[in-house]
Amino acid sequence: MSKFAEVFGVEPDGVWRAPGRVNLIGEHTDYNDGIVLPIALPNQITISASARTDGVIAVASSGQNDVITFELDSLAPGSVKDWAAYPAGAAWVLREAQYGIGGANLLVESDLPSGAGLSSSAALLCASAVALLGLRDLEVDPAEVARLAQRAENQYVGAPVGLMDQMASMCCSAGHALYFDIRAMTTDQIPFDPAADGLALLVVDVKAPHRHVDGEYAARRQSCEQAAAELGVPALRSIAVEDLDEALTRLSDDVVRRRVRHVVTEIRRVEEAVALMRAGQLRDVGPLFTASHVSLRDDFEITVPELDVAVDTALAAGALGARMTGGGFGGCIIALVDSSTATTVLNAIEKAFAANSFTTPASLDATPSTGASRLS
Ligand code: ADP
Ligand code: MG
Repeated sequence: MSKFAEVFGVEPDGVWRAPGRVNLIGEHTDYNDGIVLPIALPNQITISASARTDGVIAVASSGQNDVITFELDSLAPGSVKDWAAYPAGAAWVLREAQYGIGGANLLVESDLPSGAGLSSSAALLCASAVALLGLRDLEVDPAEVARLAQRAENQYVGAPVGLMDQMASMCCSAGHALYFDIRAMTTDQIPFDPAADGLALLVVDVKAPHRHVDGEYAARRQSCEQAAAELGVPALRSIAVEDLDEALTRLSDDVVRRRVRHVVTEIRRVEEAVALMRAGQLRDVGPLFTASHVSLRDDFEITVPELDVAVDTALAAGALGARMTGGGFGGCIIALVDSSTATTVLNAIEKAFAANSFTTPASLDATPSTGASRLS
């Protein structure tokens, strides 16, 4: 008997999946109308589902013991707590948007680490949404599902997240990075296939406890908004690198000045990385990764010793470039390496972590993968 039948007493009608993501470059430019460049990971949330006719949604996760049930008709922001808030939020937002979804049994399975900055929350929302829609054969544009999933995370779960994670989980394509211009609200698929060039992208979860993340995130956003107001622009995207020095002279606070310098130079680095990728010069993207890390460490000040040690060690062991990825204060680093040095770099990071008495890090396969889909 399948795990699904064991839990729900029926066989599933279908199986859906939605992946996690890492951002290649462009950190903290999203709320400045900037540009981000995520790839979808092979690691994903999988949801087996069967339709119910009683207007009830029952959810189980292989990581949790209980089946949690709630009525579709009585969903309201915050009405379901803990992890089940994500599938409940997906159901709530689809109903709010007038999609004719019905009751369902949902079994969540995952090989995507939770809380590691790889966006398991968006993957869970997106997988729930595509399963609920798929059970009723409702076809919805992936970018629209992403916007709905963001709304669910903002309004139902109560997390003030941007749109990158959901867009990555829904819209990424294998062998590509997703260029997502937040000001223009446009996307483009950028060829990104390190293996084809004898390279590999390593993702290392540094397993650092997230410290003060919410407060620090709010403070960074606030600094950026303050700077945009002082400079008289709608968002820092409006400041070109060529005008940066002049703009910095008009700011009153030195910390704010450094925050602005990160955002403005980071947007330029995204543009440069994309141009190199389009030109097939993937190796040359490495130094941009490293410059991005230095900017996040010294100007934006969101790294922690684990992230810095992982990046410094990767570079010393021969990586072409390395940087923290995600919100900061923990999470993961990425490193671009020659395939032949991948093991050397990973071993060096493990050794450095042991020498610093850090928790043993974990590495993940980062083959650029495809967005949410139906599996069967
Ligand atoms: P991230 O998105 O970086 O992984 P978040 O804190 O945003 O971290 O989201 C993690 C939350 O997502 C978990 O606390 C849990 O509520 C939910 N979640 C993630 N994976 C699963 C899973 N397999 N089963 C149930 N809930 C999950
Ligand atoms: Mg999340």
